[in-house]
Amino acid sequence: MSRYLDKKYQDLVPYVPGEQPKENVLIKLNTNESPFEPSPEVQKVINNEAIRSLRRYNDPTNSALNAALAKTYGVKQENVCSTGGSDEMLDYAFMAYGQDGIAFADITYGFYQVFCDLRKIPSTIIPLRDDFSIRVEDYEKLPMAIVIANPNAPTGLALSPKEIQQLLETHKNHVVIVDEAYGDFAEESMIPYIGEYDNLLVVRTFSKSRCLAGARIGYAIGNKKLIDDLERIRNSCNPYDVTTLSQLAGIAALEDTAYFESCTNRIKKVRDTYYERYLTLGFEGPKSESNFLFLKHPKVSGETVYKELRKRGILVRHFSKERIGEYNRITVGTEEQMKRLEEALKEILYEKS
Ligand SMILES: *Cc1c(COP(=O)(O)O)cnc(C)c1O
Repeated sequence: MSRYLDKKYQDLVPYVPGEQPKENVLIKLNTNESPFEPSPEVQKVINNEAIRSLRRYNDPTNSALNAALAKTYGVKQENVCSTGGSDEMLDYAFMAYGQDGIAFADITYGFYQVFCDLRKIPSTIIPLRDDFSIRVEDYEKLPMAIVIANPNAPTGLALSPKEIQQLLETHKNHVVIVDEAYGDFAEESMIPYIGEYDNLLVVRTFSKSRCLAGARIGYAIGNKKLIDDLERIRNSCNPYDVTTLSQLAGIAALEDTAYFESCTNRIKKVRDTYYERYLTLGFEGPKSESNFLFLKHPKVSGETVYKELRKRGILVRHFSKERIGEYNRITVGTEEQMKRLEEALKEILYEKS
Protein backbone atom coordinates (compact mmCIF):
# COMPACT_ATOMS: atom_id res chain seq x y z
CA MET A 1 0.00 0.00 0.00
CA SER A 2 1.40 3.40 -0.89
CA ARG A 3 1.27 6.32 1.49
CA TYR A 4 -0.90 8.11 -1.06
CA LEU A 5 -3.86 5.74 -0.83
CA ASP A 6 -6.99 7.49 0.43
CA LYS A 7 -7.55 6.55 4.08
CA LYS A 8 -11.01 5.31 3.34
CA TYR A 9 -9.56 2.38 1.39
CA GLN A 10 -6.74 1.49 3.72
CA ASP A 11 -8.73 -1.04 5.76
CA LEU A 12 -10.59 -2.48 2.80
CA VAL A 13 -10.47 -6.27 2.64
CA PRO A 14 -10.99 -7.16 -1.05
CA TYR A 15 -13.02 -10.09 -2.25
CA VAL A 16 -10.91 -13.18 -2.88
CA PRO A 17 -12.08 -14.87 -6.09
CA GLY A 18 -11.88 -18.62 -6.42
CA GLU A 19 -8.58 -19.72 -7.85
CA GLN A 20 -8.14 -19.82 -11.64
CA PRO A 21 -5.17 -22.16 -11.70
CA LYS A 22 -2.45 -21.87 -14.34
CA GLU A 23 -1.10 -25.29 -13.47
CA ASN A 24 -2.74 -28.42 -14.75
CA VAL A 25 -5.82 -29.00 -12.70
CA LEU A 26 -7.61 -32.02 -14.04
CA ILE A 27 -11.04 -31.17 -12.74
CA LYS A 28 -12.02 -27.64 -11.79
CA LEU A 29 -15.03 -27.55 -9.49
CA ASN A 30 -14.29 -24.43 -7.44
CA THR A 31 -16.03 -21.43 -9.01
CA ASN A 32 -19.43 -22.69 -10.17
CA GLU A 33 -18.71 -22.20 -13.84
CA SER A 34 -20.57 -24.36 -16.31
CA PRO A 35 -18.73 -27.54 -17.33
CA PHE A 36 -20.10 -26.96 -20.83
CA GLU A 37 -18.79 -24.69 -23.58
CA PRO A 38 -20.88 -21.71 -24.66
CA SER A 39 -23.62 -22.49 -27.17
CA PRO A 40 -22.35 -23.17 -30.72
CA GLU A 41 -24.41 -20.09 -31.71
CA VAL A 42 -22.12 -17.99 -29.50
CA GLN A 43 -19.11 -19.43 -31.23
CA LYS A 44 -20.61 -18.40 -34.59
CA VAL A 45 -21.23 -14.73 -33.74
CA ILE A 46 -17.74 -14.05 -32.42
CA ASN A 47 -16.44 -13.91 -35.97
CA ASN A 48 -14.17 -11.63 -37.98
CA GLU A 49 -16.96 -9.16 -38.59
CA ALA A 50 -17.49 -8.86 -34.85
CA ILE A 51 -13.78 -8.37 -34.34
CA ARG A 52 -13.66 -5.64 -37.00
CA SER A 53 -16.53 -3.86 -35.26
CA LEU A 54 -14.34 -3.46 -32.17
CA ARG A 55 -12.93 -0.32 -33.73
CA ARG A 56 -16.09 1.42 -32.60
CA TYR A 57 -17.44 1.81 -29.11
CA ASN A 58 -20.01 -0.74 -28.08
CA ASP A 59 -23.66 0.23 -27.70
CA PRO A 60 -23.72 1.96 -24.29
CA THR A 61 -27.45 1.26 -23.88
CA ASN A 62 -27.05 -2.51 -24.30
CA SER A 63 -30.33 -2.27 -26.15
CA ALA A 64 -30.20 -5.43 -28.28
CA LEU A 65 -29.09 -7.46 -25.29
CA ASN A 66 -31.77 -5.97 -23.06
CA ALA A 67 -34.39 -6.62 -25.74
CA ALA A 68 -33.31 -10.27 -25.91
CA LEU A 69 -33.48 -10.52 -22.11
CA ALA A 70 -36.93 -8.91 -22.06
CA LYS A 71 -38.15 -11.40 -24.65
CA THR A 72 -36.65 -14.34 -22.75
CA TYR A 73 -38.37 -13.41 -19.49
CA GLY A 74 -41.61 -11.98 -20.85
CA VAL A 75 -41.04 -8.48 -19.46
CA LYS A 76 -40.65 -5.08 -21.11
CA GLN A 77 -37.27 -3.76 -22.10
CA GLU A 78 -37.77 -0.92 -19.60
CA ASN A 79 -37.66 -3.59 -16.88
CA VAL A 80 -34.14 -4.71 -17.77
CA CYS A 81 -30.66 -3.31 -17.12
CA SER A 82 -27.42 -5.11 -17.92
CA THR A 83 -23.88 -4.65 -16.66
CA GLY A 84 -20.41 -6.15 -16.82
CA GLY A 85 -21.17 -9.19 -14.70
CA SER A 86 -23.70 -9.25 -11.90
CA ASP A 87 -21.04 -8.23 -9.39
CA GLU A 88 -21.13 -4.82 -11.00
CA MET A 89 -24.92 -4.78 -10.84
CA LEU A 90 -24.85 -5.67 -7.16
CA ASP A 91 -22.41 -2.86 -6.52
CA TYR A 92 -24.72 -0.40 -8.32
CA ALA A 93 -27.77 -1.69 -6.44
CA PHE A 94 -25.94 -1.35 -3.12
CA MET A 95 -24.96 2.23 -4.05
CA ALA A 96 -28.52 2.98 -5.09
CA TYR A 97 -30.40 1.47 -2.15
CA GLY A 98 -27.93 1.14 0.72
CA GLN A 99 -28.54 4.50 2.34
CA ASP A 100 -30.16 3.00 5.48
CA GLY A 101 -27.87 -0.01 5.44
CA ILE A 102 -28.15 -3.49 3.98
CA ALA A 103 -29.00 -6.73 5.76
CA PHE A 104 -27.78 -10.14 4.65
CA ALA A 105 -26.98 -13.58 6.02
CA ASP A 106 -23.78 -14.51 7.86
CA ILE A 107 -23.20 -17.34 5.41
CA THR A 108 -23.72 -15.98 1.92
CA TYR A 109 -21.91 -14.48 -1.07
CA GLY A 110 -18.72 -12.85 0.25
CA PHE A 111 -18.89 -9.88 -2.08
CA TYR A 112 -21.86 -8.32 -0.23
CA GLN A 113 -19.66 -7.36 2.69
CA VAL A 114 -16.93 -6.07 0.38
CA PHE A 115 -19.38 -3.78 -1.45
CA CYS A 116 -20.68 -2.46 1.86
CA ASP A 117 -17.14 -1.73 3.03
CA LEU A 118 -16.17 -0.11 -0.26
CA ARG A 119 -19.24 2.14 -0.35
CA LYS A 120 -19.34 2.79 3.40
CA ILE A 121 -22.74 1.18 3.75
CA PRO A 122 -23.54 -0.19 7.22
CA SER A 123 -24.23 -3.93 7.06
CA THR A 124 -26.43 -5.95 9.39
CA ILE A 125 -25.54 -9.62 9.49
CA ILE A 126 -28.30 -12.11 10.23
CA PRO A 127 -27.18 -15.64 11.15
CA LEU A 128 -28.75 -18.52 9.27
CA ARG A 129 -30.42 -21.25 11.31
CA ASP A 130 -28.30 -24.28 12.25
CA ASP A 131 -29.54 -26.10 9.16
CA PHE A 132 -28.42 -23.06 7.05
CA SER A 133 -31.95 -22.01 6.23
CA ILE A 134 -32.94 -18.34 6.33
CA ARG A 135 -35.42 -17.28 9.00
CA VAL A 136 -37.48 -14.65 7.22
CA GLU A 137 -38.86 -13.26 10.48
CA ASP A 138 -35.35 -12.12 11.48
CA TYR A 139 -35.45 -9.53 8.71
CA GLU A 140 -38.94 -8.23 9.25
CA LYS A 141 -38.29 -5.32 11.58
CA LEU A 142 -35.06 -4.14 9.97
CA PRO A 143 -35.48 -0.66 8.44
CA MET A 144 -33.00 -1.17 5.62
CA ALA A 145 -32.51 -2.83 2.25
CA ILE A 146 -32.04 -6.59 2.12
CA VAL A 147 -29.99 -8.74 -0.20
CA ILE A 148 -30.73 -12.45 -0.42
CA ALA A 149 -28.86 -14.85 -2.63
CA ASN A 150 -31.61 -17.21 -3.74
CA PRO A 151 -30.58 -20.00 -3.95
CA ASN A 152 -28.00 -19.03 -1.36
CA ALA A 153 -24.29 -19.59 -1.89
CA PRO A 154 -22.50 -21.61 -0.67
CA THR A 155 -25.39 -23.55 0.88
CA GLY A 156 -27.54 -24.15 -2.22
CA LEU A 157 -30.78 -23.62 -0.28
CA ALA A 158 -33.60 -21.47 -1.60
CA LEU A 159 -36.50 -19.56 -0.08
CA SER A 160 -39.90 -19.96 -1.72
CA PRO A 161 -41.48 -17.00 -3.54
CA LYS A 162 -44.02 -16.90 -0.71
CA GLU A 163 -41.30 -16.27 1.86
CA ILE A 164 -39.71 -13.58 -0.28
CA GLN A 165 -43.12 -11.98 -0.74
CA GLN A 166 -43.30 -11.78 3.03
CA LEU A 167 -40.05 -9.78 3.00
CA LEU A 168 -41.33 -7.54 0.21
CA GLU A 169 -44.54 -6.85 2.15
CA THR A 170 -42.70 -5.95 5.35
CA HIS A 171 -40.16 -3.76 3.54
CA LYS A 172 -42.32 -1.42 1.53
CA ASN A 173 -39.88 1.42 2.25
CA HIS A 174 -36.79 -0.45 1.11
CA VAL A 175 -35.62 -2.51 -1.80
CA VAL A 176 -35.23 -6.25 -1.51
CA ILE A 177 -32.47 -7.44 -3.84
CA VAL A 178 -32.85 -11.08 -4.81
CA ASP A 179 -29.58 -12.36 -6.25
CA GLU A 180 -30.61 -15.22 -8.53
CA ALA A 181 -27.12 -16.08 -9.78
CA TYR A 182 -28.22 -19.73 -9.46
CA GLY A 183 -31.89 -19.15 -10.26
CA ASP A 184 -31.83 -21.27 -13.40
CA PHE A 185 -31.02 -24.35 -11.34
CA ALA A 186 -33.81 -23.70 -8.84
CA GLU A 187 -37.51 -24.43 -8.84
CA GLU A 188 -38.80 -20.86 -8.91
CA SER A 189 -37.76 -17.31 -9.77
CA MET A 190 -39.01 -13.97 -8.48
CA ILE A 191 -39.08 -12.46 -11.98
CA PRO A 192 -42.86 -13.06 -12.35
CA TYR A 193 -43.43 -10.84 -9.30
CA ILE A 194 -41.74 -7.63 -10.48
CA GLY A 195 -45.06 -6.12 -11.60
CA GLU A 196 -46.57 -6.72 -8.19
CA TYR A 197 -43.77 -5.25 -6.06
CA ASP A 198 -42.07 -1.96 -6.85
CA ASN A 199 -39.38 -2.78 -4.27
CA LEU A 200 -38.29 -6.08 -5.85
CA LEU A 201 -35.03 -6.19 -7.78
CA VAL A 202 -33.94 -9.52 -9.26
CA VAL A 203 -30.23 -9.74 -10.19
CA ARG A 204 -28.96 -12.50 -12.49
CA THR A 205 -25.89 -13.51 -14.45
CA PHE A 206 -24.73 -15.31 -17.59
CA SER A 207 -21.76 -16.70 -15.67
CA LYS A 208 -23.24 -19.92 -14.36
CA SER A 209 -26.20 -21.25 -16.30
CA ARG A 210 -25.39 -19.60 -19.65
CA CYS A 211 -21.80 -20.90 -19.82
CA LEU A 212 -20.33 -17.38 -20.20
CA ALA A 213 -18.44 -16.55 -17.00
CA GLY A 214 -15.56 -14.97 -18.92
CA ALA A 215 -17.89 -12.75 -20.98
CA ARG A 216 -18.93 -10.82 -17.84
CA ILE A 217 -22.63 -10.20 -18.31
CA GLY A 218 -25.06 -9.57 -15.49
CA TYR A 219 -28.52 -8.06 -15.46
CA ALA A 220 -31.30 -6.86 -13.24
CA ILE A 221 -35.03 -7.18 -13.74
CA GLY A 222 -37.43 -4.95 -11.85
CA ASN A 223 -39.89 -2.12 -11.88
CA LYS A 224 -39.10 0.61 -14.45
CA LYS A 225 -38.24 3.15 -11.78
CA LEU A 226 -35.68 0.83 -10.17
CA ILE A 227 -34.16 0.17 -13.59
CA ASP A 228 -33.95 3.93 -14.20
CA ASP A 229 -32.05 4.30 -10.91
CA LEU A 230 -29.58 1.63 -11.93
CA GLU A 231 -29.09 3.16 -15.38
CA ARG A 232 -28.42 6.48 -13.69
CA ILE A 233 -25.63 4.92 -11.65
CA ARG A 234 -24.35 2.76 -14.50
CA ASN A 235 -24.13 5.80 -16.77
CA SER A 236 -22.19 7.62 -14.07
CA CYS A 237 -19.69 4.80 -13.59
CA ASN A 238 -19.19 2.85 -16.78
CA PRO A 239 -21.75 3.08 -19.61
CA TYR A 240 -19.57 0.88 -21.86
CA ASP A 241 -19.50 -2.01 -19.42
CA VAL A 242 -20.82 -4.83 -21.61
CA THR A 243 -18.36 -5.17 -24.49
CA THR A 244 -19.43 -5.61 -28.11
CA LEU A 245 -18.35 -9.25 -28.07
CA SER A 246 -20.14 -9.90 -24.80
CA GLN A 247 -23.37 -8.36 -26.07
CA LEU A 248 -23.22 -10.58 -29.16
CA ALA A 249 -22.40 -13.64 -27.08
CA GLY A 250 -25.18 -12.91 -24.61
CA ILE A 251 -27.84 -12.50 -27.29
CA ALA A 252 -26.77 -15.69 -29.07
CA ALA A 253 -26.82 -17.60 -25.78
CA LEU A 254 -30.33 -16.37 -24.97
CA GLU A 255 -31.63 -17.32 -28.40
CA ASP A 256 -30.35 -20.89 -28.18
CA THR A 257 -32.95 -22.00 -25.66
CA ALA A 258 -32.59 -25.69 -26.54
CA TYR A 259 -28.89 -25.67 -25.68
CA PHE A 260 -29.52 -23.72 -22.48
CA GLU A 261 -32.21 -26.12 -21.36
CA SER A 262 -30.17 -29.18 -22.15
CA CYS A 263 -27.20 -27.81 -20.15
CA THR A 264 -29.25 -26.85 -17.09
CA ASN A 265 -31.21 -30.09 -17.14
CA ARG A 266 -28.05 -32.16 -17.35
CA ILE A 267 -26.51 -30.26 -14.45
CA LYS A 268 -29.62 -30.66 -12.29
CA LYS A 269 -29.79 -34.37 -13.03
CA VAL A 270 -26.09 -34.98 -12.30
CA ARG A 271 -26.41 -32.83 -9.16
CA ASP A 272 -29.26 -34.88 -7.72
CA THR A 273 -27.75 -38.24 -8.68
CA TYR A 274 -24.33 -37.51 -7.22
CA TYR A 275 -25.71 -35.81 -4.13
CA GLU A 276 -27.34 -39.13 -3.24
CA ARG A 277 -24.17 -41.04 -4.06
CA TYR A 278 -21.97 -38.82 -1.90
CA LEU A 279 -24.47 -39.17 0.94
CA THR A 280 -24.03 -42.93 0.77
CA LEU A 281 -20.31 -42.30 1.38
CA GLY A 282 -21.31 -40.57 4.61
CA PHE A 283 -21.18 -36.97 3.39
CA GLU A 284 -23.75 -34.58 4.78
CA GLY A 285 -25.15 -31.31 3.49
CA PRO A 286 -28.24 -29.51 2.27
CA LYS A 287 -30.13 -30.61 -0.82
CA SER A 288 -29.03 -28.11 -3.42
CA GLU A 289 -31.15 -26.02 -5.78
CA SER A 290 -28.03 -24.62 -7.45
CA ASN A 291 -25.15 -25.95 -9.55
CA PHE A 292 -23.02 -26.90 -6.55
CA LEU A 293 -23.09 -29.17 -3.52
CA PHE A 294 -22.08 -28.14 -0.02
CA LEU A 295 -20.77 -31.15 1.85
CA LYS A 296 -18.95 -32.22 4.98
CA HIS A 297 -17.97 -35.60 6.35
CA PRO A 298 -18.17 -36.54 10.04
CA LYS A 299 -14.86 -38.42 9.89
CA VAL A 300 -12.60 -36.21 7.74
CA SER A 301 -12.14 -32.46 8.12
CA GLY A 302 -13.15 -30.05 5.38
CA GLU A 303 -9.59 -28.91 4.99
CA THR A 304 -8.28 -32.47 4.60
CA VAL A 305 -10.87 -33.25 1.95
CA TYR A 306 -9.89 -30.04 0.12
CA LYS A 307 -6.15 -30.74 0.27
CA GLU A 308 -6.42 -34.40 -0.63
CA LEU A 309 -8.64 -33.61 -3.61
CA ARG A 310 -6.18 -30.99 -4.73
CA LYS A 311 -3.35 -33.52 -4.60
CA ARG A 312 -5.43 -35.60 -6.98
CA GLY A 313 -5.93 -32.70 -9.38
CA ILE A 314 -9.47 -31.88 -8.29
CA LEU A 315 -10.11 -28.33 -7.21
CA VAL A 316 -13.12 -27.49 -4.99
CA ARG A 317 -13.82 -24.42 -2.84
CA HIS A 318 -13.00 -24.44 0.84
CA PHE A 319 -13.92 -21.51 3.08
CA SER A 320 -12.03 -21.02 6.30
CA LYS A 321 -14.97 -19.20 7.93
CA GLU A 322 -15.66 -20.87 11.25
CA ARG A 323 -19.26 -22.00 10.80
CA ILE A 324 -18.56 -23.67 7.48
CA GLY A 325 -14.92 -24.73 7.87
CA GLU A 326 -15.87 -28.40 7.77
CA TYR A 327 -17.56 -28.04 4.40
CA ASN A 328 -16.46 -27.84 0.81
CA ARG A 329 -18.43 -26.27 -1.99
CA ILE A 330 -18.28 -28.48 -5.03
CA THR A 331 -19.42 -27.23 -8.43
CA VAL A 332 -21.52 -29.76 -10.31
CA GLY A 333 -19.45 -30.79 -13.30
CA THR A 334 -20.08 -33.36 -15.99
CA GLU A 335 -21.19 -36.86 -15.06
CA GLU A 336 -17.66 -38.08 -15.80
CA GLN A 337 -16.09 -35.44 -13.50
CA MET A 338 -18.51 -36.25 -10.68
CA LYS A 339 -17.74 -39.94 -11.06
CA ARG A 340 -14.01 -39.23 -10.78
CA LEU A 341 -14.69 -37.06 -7.77
CA GLU A 342 -16.59 -39.94 -6.19
CA GLU A 343 -13.63 -42.27 -6.72
CA ALA A 344 -11.25 -39.72 -5.21
CA LEU A 345 -13.55 -39.21 -2.21
CA LYS A 346 -13.69 -42.96 -1.62
CA GLU A 347 -9.91 -43.12 -1.65
CA ILE A 348 -9.60 -40.19 0.76
CA LEU A 349 -12.13 -41.69 3.16
CA TYR A 350 -10.30 -45.01 3.04
CA GLU A 351 -6.95 -43.35 3.84
CA LYS A 352 -8.02 -40.70 6.30
CA SER A 353 -11.00 -41.91 8.31
C1 LIG B 1 -21.18 -15.98 -9.09
C2 LIG B 1 -22.05 -15.10 -8.28
C3 LIG B 1 -22.27 -13.77 -8.62
C4 LIG B 1 -21.44 -13.03 -9.63
O1 LIG B 1 -21.54 -13.39 -10.87
P1 LIG B 1 -20.87 -12.55 -12.05
O2 LIG B 1 -22.04 -12.25 -12.91
O3 LIG B 1 -19.89 -13.48 -12.66
O4 LIG B 1 -20.25 -11.30 -11.52
C5 LIG B 1 -23.18 -13.04 -7.90
N1 LIG B 1 -23.84 -13.58 -6.86
C6 LIG B 1 -23.64 -14.85 -6.47
C7 LIG B 1 -24.37 -15.38 -5.32
C8 LIG B 1 -22.72 -15.64 -7.17
O5 LIG B 1 -22.47 -16.87 -6.76
